[in-house]
Amino acid sequence: MRIPFFQPSIGNREIEAAVSVLQSGWLTTGHKCREFEARFAEFLGGDVEAVAVNSATAGIHLAGEACGIGHGDSVLVPTLTFSATAAAFHHLGADIVFVDVDPVSLTIDLDDAERKWTPRCKAIAPVHFGGWPCDIDAVLAFARRRGLKVIEDAAHALPARRDGRLVGSSESDACIFSFYANKTITTGEGGMITTRDPVVAARTRVMRTHGLNRDAFDRFNRIGASWSYDIVAPGFKYNLTDLAAAIGVAQLERVYEFQSGRQAIAEQYLECLDDLPLDLPARAPEGGLHAWHLFPIRIRPEAAICRDDVIALLSERGIGSSVHYRPLHQMTYWRRQPCDPQGVFPVADRYFEGAITLPLFPGMRESEAREVIAVLREALGRRR
Ligand SMILES: *Cc1c(COP(=O)(O)O)cnc(C)c1O
Repeated sequence: MRIPFFQPSIGNREIEAAVSVLQSGWLTTGHKCREFEARFAEFLGGDVEAVAVNSATAGIHLAGEACGIGHGDSVLVPTLTFSATAAAFHHLGADIVFVDVDPVSLTIDLDDAERKWTPRCKAIAPVHFGGWPCDIDAVLAFARRRGLKVIEDAAHALPARRDGRLVGSSESDACIFSFYANKTITTGEGGMITTRDPVVAARTRVMRTHGLNRDAFDRFNRIGASWSYDIVAPGFKYNLTDLAAAIGVAQLERVYEFQSGRQAIAEQYLECLDDLPLDLPARAPEGGLHAWHLFPIRIRPEAAICRDDVIALLSERGIGSSVHYRPLHQMTYWRRQPCDPQGVFPVADRYFEGAITLPLFPGMRESEAREVIAVLREALGRRR
């Protein structure tokens, strides 16, 4: 593709940081991971603990485990998300209850959550879709009334802010970020759990490395350290490497540079597409900041061209695009889930029919966005 859907921004600092870890003799979880965790917690205001993991999927799995979610429980998950949000809880034995989304923000619709709630529900997992900061205070109020845990999927949402507060610093039980190759900062693969609950922090730290009471860095790298360790739980293998963490430290320093690069392109799209038969993504609420991980549009039914033909035209012109997401309740596996067979999801279904995600990345040029806009204007029959 001449204009890719996404391209990571990796500079000399990231490359030098990775090389210096390769030369250091310690490649896996160690000093760099601790530094990345400390800087991440500090970035969020210092009042949270940050636990580095090797993916957001692993982070959601660990957070769910630490919150005690298991067989017989169910979890409220918006249908408009990536499969990992649901799969992580499903692997703990929980049933997934899909919830429709709000038509403007495309984040979980609490009225629908209310309709789908049952006494078996143990947790709710809001997704900050596309980097739009969802109304976490409303989710927390909903959850408190029903004794639910709140586990935020913030895979898109660094550095989103709502009411002046960064996503990841709320009173939820846990919030999980992704550093996958195309996320707002990247370590290739990686993730971070943030929490204010010391019990969740301690449990996820133990469970991310086999249920060991001490990690390898502790055992091998301290003067006078001893080989001995104990297994206190049947853990997983979800720790982040120092190689990835070093890249993460360098990327985190550039998080606002990246956000403002994406925001400028998003503003250009919003301004130049607003007379077309499209639904455009919502701007951040007053006092907030949109992370602009995605720029999802919806071709309205009155347009003379359907979604698939617009994608084909973009591709013909060398422009990458994507769709976020085909709702999970439409997927073969999730459709077979025993829970909520009567579930209807009119908003997510209607959005998906026309959904396209446009190219958006920090190094994207204004001229590239102009080309995307020109092809969309041509497809939708309006030039200017
Ligand atoms: C990318 C993504 C994940 C999974 O992140 P990984 O780090 O790849 O495991 C989870 N939820 C959402 C909404 C995502 O976009």
